[in-house]
Amino acid sequence: MRHFFPELNAWIDQVPDPRFQPLVVYHKRFLIWWGLSLFLCKLGSRRQLDYQLNTDGPEVLANLNRLAGTAQESRPVNQTLESFLKRTGEAPVAGLRQRMVQRLIRMKALDAARLLGRFVVLIDGSGYLVFRTRHCDHCLTQRHGETTSYMHQVLEAKLVGPAETVFSIASEFIDNRDTHDAPAGSTPERLKQDCELKALRRLAGHLRGEFPQVRLCLSGDGLYACGEGFQVAKDYKCDFVYTFQPGRLPALWQEFQALLRLCPGQQVVWMTPQGVRQVYRWVTGLQYTDSDDRPWTFQAIHCTETKPDGVVSEWSWLTSLDVTHQTVVDVATKGGRTRWREENQGFNTQKNSGLNLEHAYSHTCYAAYYFLLQIAHLLLQLVEKGNLLSRLAQEQGKRTAVAWYGSLKNMAQRLLESLRYQHWPDEAFDPTASGSIQIRFDSS
Ligand SMILES: [Zn+2]
Repeated sequence: MRHFFPELNAWIDQVPDPRFQPLVVYHKRFLIWWGLSLFLCKLGSRRQLDYQLNTDGPEVLANLNRLAGTAQESRPVNQTLESFLKRTGEAPVAGLRQRMVQRLIRMKALDAARLLGRFVVLIDGSGYLVFRTRHCDHCLTQRHGETTSYMHQVLEAKLVGPAETVFSIASEFIDNRDTHDAPAGSTPERLKQDCELKALRRLAGHLRGEFPQVRLCLSGDGLYACGEGFQVAKDYKCDFVYTFQPGRLPALWQEFQALLRLCPGQQVVWMTPQGVRQVYRWVTGLQYTDSDDRPWTFQAIHCTETKPDGVVSEWSWLTSLDVTHQTVVDVATKGGRTRWREENQGFNTQKNSGLNLEHAYSHTCYAAYYFLLQIAHLLLQLVEKGNLLSRLAQEQGKRTAVAWYGSLKNMAQRLLESLRYQHWPDEAFDPTASGSIQIRFDSS
């Protein structure tokens, strides 16, 4: 966090001041750090702020004051944070996240993860908030027999960094406004696809607006391999690697199989360090006309993977990137592999490691909490995967920081203990020193 706090504080200063006058006026820098602590220490719910950061943690106030560069004499309660976020709204908090990712890009901390010069952006949708009673006019509804649940969904763009890091860079909330012009009688699956494709267009638009110059490659599942998915990539000047599912584009799949047989030379055999044998084959210049008669030309890759235990699996992707003997492994591995979403720092970690993504931190300004969570997760990944803590862990004979602490939850617990009981050393808050620190990721 040392890398970031002076700049984060300067950016918070640009957040508009809320127009309210409570009894004690808390500085917005202090309140943002108070809110971030909720997620950095994985407190799980907003009211835990009142219990875990209360007066029996003698150093909480001093530590947070020094992080925020403030001189608060008392602690807020969780409702103070709620009132503050209600008045500022979510946009300034989303803006803080954006500047942090821009800073990481500018300082080239993420360059090692580039694919053919582009940053890979994972596109992934997820259920997010679920209520048993209607929570607002825009809830999506889902029937299960007699009961109905009321939901909010989100489509995320996550930038892939080195050392299995992923950083949220754009989020689109999906609600029932996205279903209004769906044809009557649409199946839930069809409805979900429509919503996500609509959200994809908004997401890509915002992404391009925030990062006008950065070369981006969208990486998404088979849902996006359709006319609209290709058109969104084209409209916002992105490349793409989308999963190619035989069932979604059956005629194109047959043509792909036929063309593969005609170019046996387009094959690369690759052994991964884990002893997995991968056979890559590909076709370039595959042509496709979508349901709106738009012509498309792209490359298709097929990979047959044999694990050391003999288990075989097959993968295919469609991509706008150049595929050659030199690039095929990179395009498929960095651009296409879905393991990122399944195993690593995506929704799974945010739901299950104590960040409690699916918890309704607020019924009204949930989006602001969503962005606080994303900022905290960015900071936590820098701590976890950055080379400083990794080096300490390795000195203790452990491979990673998580192995050293036992779990991500334990790491958060240690952070909470240290926030409560340890007077953090003054040199940790020296902004001139932090400017010279480089963010590097542990590459092991
Ligand atoms: Zn709602």
